[in-house]
Amino acid sequence: MNNKTIRSIKGTQDILPEESIKWQSLENEIRKITSHYGYEEIRTPAFEQTKLFSRGVGEETDIVSKEMYSWTDQGGENLTLKPELTASVARAYIQHNLGLVSPVNKLYYIDALFRRERPQKGRYRQFHQFGVEAFGSEHPEIDAEVIALAISIFYSVGLEELQLNINSIGSPECRKNYRIALQEFLKPHFSNLSETSQKRFNNNPLRILDTKAPHEINILNDAPIISNYWTDEDETHFKKVIEYLDILEIKYQLMPRLVRGLDYYTRTTFEITSSNLGAQDAICGGGRYDGLVEMLGGKPTPGIGFAAGMERLLLAMKNNQSKKNKVQIYIVGLGDNARGTVIKLAEELRQQNIATEFDVLRRSLKAQLREANKMGVSYAIIIGDKELESNQLELKNFSTGNQQKIELNKIVEHMNSLSF
Ligand code: AMP
Repeated sequence: MNNKTIRSIKGTQDILPEESIKWQSLENEIRKITSHYGYEEIRTPAFEQTKLFSRGVGEETDIVSKEMYSWTDQGGENLTLKPELTASVARAYIQHNLGLVSPVNKLYYIDALFRRERPQKGRYRQFHQFGVEAFGSEHPEIDAEVIALAISIFYSVGLEELQLNINSIGSPECRKNYRIALQEFLKPHFSNLSETSQKRFNNNPLRILDTKAPHEINILNDAPIISNYWTDEDETHFKKVIEYLDILEIKYQLMPRLVRGLDYYTRTTFEITSSNLGAQDAICGGGRYDGLVEMLGGKPTPGIGFAAGMERLLLAMKNNQSKKNKVQIYIVGLGDNARGTVIKLAEELRQQNIATEFDVLRRSLKAQLREANKMGVSYAIIIGDKELESNQLELKNFSTGNQQKIELNKIVEHMNSLSF
């Protein structure tokens, strides 16, 4: 490759046919299972107004503060390639008054997102997520349904050794009190905190709990836990979620320090990890965001969802046995006169949903048959001058080796009557 060759951008990936077949089977499974749970697909644009994310994700998150691909376009608008989907879906929900159409809206997406992160295995700058967002119910039944849906998809695509970590971060009232308690606790340790945590101390102390620094994790071992600040309603809600998970026989790990730092996140929060992955072991993160729709200018509407990384899922699906779509018929064309008939016949067979290939390199009979064999076709149809003249095509059955003659105008009907 010389240095004039244009290459893809760091942190992005081409998904070549060998891989895309795995993507398709994962996507098919996602679409099938989400539909069993009554979720319908929503597709939103690749870019949005930047303020959607600064409001809908939060200025203080890593995503918004340092990872967004943002620019000002020729018309002076501040735009951003979407770095996550919940804000876009909530915007669409508000914009199209979906709450008036139906009291509960259950949506899912499979989409590409963009974050300027440091690329490594399982972490990219353009990556894909599938996720669901359920708007309209504050009740724990929907929390359990959303979690059951995630687990069901992961198991059905062959993931093993999943761990569901779950917590409730309570109502805004609970978090207000917890925030004060956490600041009180951290005050004496302030000088030992990292610069990032010191910044978060005033703006968003809950996010300090997300730290990966061992000395901070040590300090936080004795920090107050949010469940002590739940209101009675928060506690009842969480207990019900857990009760439903028990009924559904879904195993979970209570994680008192699993939090989401932004004001519009409420109550149930969860993540699912897989021990099949290395350092980047999180497959999916989710939770309630009862304040988000209102925050983006809609009517107060409860919501809950999750987002799962497609690349991580594919990495974790070790035994992905997706099969290539098989070509069923190969038409061997010989000589200039046959080419028009070959193209026409291929088209007619394809119209009958029979996967058909023909040679576009004008190769010899032997080379074309070799190619057909390599493709693993069930049949080859041979058309040359002799066959055109007699109107009788040669049909070769690859599994038995038998060869028979079929009239040109009967071939489509004949092939249609066979099972592949
Ligand atoms: P988040 O939207 O950050 O809560 O992430 C949800 C899921 O998306 C994670 O659990 C990962 O599976 C996946 N994910 C997040 N960031 C990346 C990335 N940069 N590259 C690949 N997958 C990612």
